[in-house]
Amino acid sequence: MDELSDGEKKRMKEEFDMLFAIPDVEFGIPKRCACGGGITKEISQTKADTGRRYFTCKLR
Ligand SMILES: [Zn+2]
Repeated sequence: MDELSDGEKKRMKEEFDMLFAIPDVEFGIPKRCACGGGITKEISQTKADTGRRYFTCKLR
């Protein structure tokens, strides 16, 4: 069996989310995601990147 533990799944989801968290300083904040869903603006809370703005898809 190669079933992942809940902790591993959570970690993988967080990494996946980060791939879609695009810094608006480079791309601007679009009104819609490429998939057609709305977007949510977020502020990075990581120590290395505090205060940096991102957007993420509402459908995920
Ligand atoms: Zn989307």
